[in-house]
Amino acid sequence: MGRRDPFTKCRLPQEVEAVVAAGVYPFYLPVEGRLGGGEVVAAGRRVLLAGSNDYLALSGDPRLAAAGVAAMEELGAGNSGSRVLNGTLALHERLERELAAFLGHEAAMVVSTGYQANLALSALFGPHDVVVADRHMHASLIDAARLGQAELRRYRHNDMAHLETLLEEVGDDRGAMVLTEGMFSVGGDLCDLPGVAKHAQRHGARVVLDSAHDAGLLGAGGRGAAEHFGLGAAVDVQTVTFSKCFGTLGGAVAGPRHVVDYLRHSARAALFSASLPPSCTAAALAALDIIRTEPQRRRAVLAAADRLRAGLTRLGYAIPPGGTPTVALPMADALTCCRFWAKLLEKGVLANVMLPPGVPGEQPLIRLSVTAAHTTAQVDRILEAVATVTGELPGERPAHALGHR
Ligand code: PMP
Repeated sequence: MGRRDPFTKCRLPQEVEAVVAAGVYPFYLPVEGRLGGGEVVAAGRRVLLAGSNDYLALSGDPRLAAAGVAAMEELGAGNSGSRVLNGTLALHERLERELAAFLGHEAAMVVSTGYQANLALSALFGPHDVVVADRHMHASLIDAARLGQAELRRYRHNDMAHLETLLEEVGDDRGAMVLTEGMFSVGGDLCDLPGVAKHAQRHGARVVLDSAHDAGLLGAGGRGAAEHFGLGAAVDVQTVTFSKCFGTLGGAVAGPRHVVDYLRHSARAALFSASLPPSCTAAALAALDIIRTEPQRRRAVLAAADRLRAGLTRLGYAIPPGGTPTVALPMADALTCCRFWAKLLEKGVLANVMLPPGVPGEQPLIRLSVTAAHTTAQVDRILEAVATVTGELPGERPAHALGHR
């Protein structure tokens, strides 16, 4: 008998095969050009991008490009080493100081992606700890919890009674950490940070907040969900990414100095990977400056978000409150979801598709988001396209919204 071939598993998931067969495969669609103002060239034509996390529309800002080009010319295209060896730049240290001050923490560590920032936290999750995470938590923090040695428990999405029950079950001899996103990446809703802070304090648990989507966007100063709720002091450790509001690439962990110093020497995701290149580091610094000084960008994207949310609600979609630029439309099944996406694209609107596994409640979703670059007329075009496609695929949409699962 021959040995079992480890590659026999290498097949597309069944539902992906089905959408390929139906000619509505929605993934890895190349962007062929960026036209500014919320438009890109894709599938050979000009389309309105309604699925980007570039909330403040900074990725195309000439000030980020100028800072990035200047840094690349001065310092090179890459650092060819990890932070701990030859890969630390004075520019990284400046970004860490500015970011820590901005977010209201003692220290920060810059890494090469938001995914790595979260993965780095696995070093915090020791064998005597219990990690209690929201069920809608991003894959990167769940991966960190699995990579660490802590026990992982999940509470129903934003369900504070369930969180409390899980915390009550943690013995006093164990450390406890609560993990949540500030603005949830999937449905765009906000976490119940006041509830998390209250229960964490009552049970002596640490709070870890992933601000990937809300840093730069929420709060009067753009410091994120913690500022929005006036609860900066309740957040022990915070992670951010530069791939959303900051318009570039990279990530950071911020928190107490001794925790960040510990991570610098223990977080394998940072120790064993090359550091953020000069271009992205300089672009992130330029973005931070704009975030601090141009609150009108936050106002613009939140106004576009209000218009999108109100329009979708009028169309009969159950849009949860939150006012953020991202919303998820639950679809009946994977094929319907991809048909919906393809019809939107036909009408010149490029949205995102999220299919199980990994989507909360195993619910296929169309994810729409707007940015500071979208005009009122463009938001209306997105709504018109959604209205038409909803009419063309009647009855395919389940009545319930993405809920507490
Ligand atoms: N956390 C959340 C909540 C995210 O949505 C993402 C990106 N999708 C990340 C972390 C990872 O960030 P990055 O893209 O910078 O790796």
